[in-house]
Amino acid sequence: MNANKSKVLSILAIELMNDYTLQAGEAVQGSNFVKTCIVESVAHLINKCPDKTLLYSHSKNVYLAIVKDIHYENDIMALKQLIKQLKSPININGVEYLPCPKIGFVSRYIEGNENAKELIRFATSALIQIRGTRHPYIAYNEKEDNLLQNKFKLMSDLPRALKNSEEIRLYFQPIIDSKSEQCIELECLLRWKHPELGNISPFSIISWIEETPLMQDLTLRVIDLAIEAAQVLSTENMFPKIAVNLSCYDLYFDKIHDKLKLATLAISSGQLIAEITETALIKDLDTIAIGLKNLRDLGINIRIDDFGVGQSSLSYLTKLPAHSIKLDQSFLRQIEADPANLKISAGITTIAKELGFDVIIEGVECAKDYQITQYIQPSCIQGYHIAKPMPISKVVHWLKCNQFKQEKDVKGYLTMTTII
Ligand code: C2E
Ligand code: CA
Ligand code: CA
Repeated sequence: MNANKSKVLSILAIELMNDYTLQAGEAVQGSNFVKTCIVESVAHLINKCPDKTLLYSHSKNVYLAIVKDIHYENDIMALKQLIKQLKSPININGVEYLPCPKIGFVSRYIEGNENAKELIRFATSALIQIRGTRHPYIAYNEKEDNLLQNKFKLMSDLPRALKNSEEIRLYFQPIIDSKSEQCIELECLLRWKHPELGNISPFSIISWIEETPLMQDLTLRVIDLAIEAAQVLSTENMFPKIAVNLSCYDLYFDKIHDKLKLATLAISSGQLIAEITETALIKDLDTIAIGLKNLRDLGINIRIDDFGVGQSSLSYLTKLPAHSIKLDQSFLRQIEADPANLKISAGITTIAKELGFDVIIEGVECAKDYQITQYIQPSCIQGYHIAKPMPISKVVHWLKCNQFKQEKDVKGYLTMTTII
């Protein structure tokens, strides 16, 4: 496109006050305070935007500015000056408010009838990307927008997928006892094969839906699938423990509690493990501790997953009704970076075991990692080196031929002196 012949149009989606400040401001200072802050910010906006800018209120705290003849991507200084103005402190009856505006924008050379609606969507999509980051502004990015659209599509497709047995499945990853090297447990890991978008990472799914009612539906399905798997295994005379991952939000729902109760009938007593991530505990330790205690009272083993990512404090573990902890994969990765971390991991494991917790090490990817575990001496080991997550039919086969022991290549192992 010939930039000289075409006109420049920029659309800015400007968040004058973030949602939390807006709600907290209304709760603490009242809605008039918030309204006045917004009005003052809009005045700053009018002051700094070029003449003929069209300004629209998009929502309570977001305004749209349609600006002609400035290509903000090429004129970042203009954007910085606008932000500087919007950041000016606002004083209302002695209460000072320091605005922290964010701008998502799109700038285009346009010819004829450009789809203005689409450009507005681009600007608001950019604003969504910038929320939660420390950046004050961001330009529209098609790749990020596609991710956002896919995320939205996935969230709206999930209810249908939950009814479709082909799409949502569980894979199972063996966990072995570190001394006997026998598989004593399987961790259930969610798999979603979307018909158009392919395999979707469970971590992404959970982080998107965790605070929505979909989380509950998903966990109910996961528990059903875990029960089905336990039944398949029992027909083969195999009774490994079954570990399911729970979101901390699951602990607030009676339906999940009831479903887990059902699971304890299908999976023999003490064989069911609920894994909950350590970072989740920070959110609301007291309430989560009650939820976990309720599960423990059902005979479910409680495990703190990804231990070491959050506070890594062993002392608060004693306040929880947990039976075991799973050291996060990052422990092993840090040992690779600095062998001094080996002693830290071993120390944590020793103390946790002395406090009565079983300790599982995850992310054991290779022979070297496995050798490291010999030094750390956890209770159990999990990782690609033992086995990758697999569908239940493959697990049955894997268990039947005790595959890890067969594949273990002792000669390939490193000695501890090469690691420490
Ligand atoms: P997680 O619970 O920590 O599960 C372990 C993750 O590490 C799994 O990823 C597993 O496939 C992967 N993994 C296992 N061994 C190794 C290894 O040796 N090396 C490496 N690099 N990775 C290994 P996955 O299946 O992608 O799951 C990611 C996360 O998604 C899980 O982390 C868990 O937090 C969450 N998740 C999975 N399924 C469920 C579920 O049914 N419910 C909930 N609430 N969360 C789930
Ligand atoms: Ca887990
Ligand atoms: Ca983990």
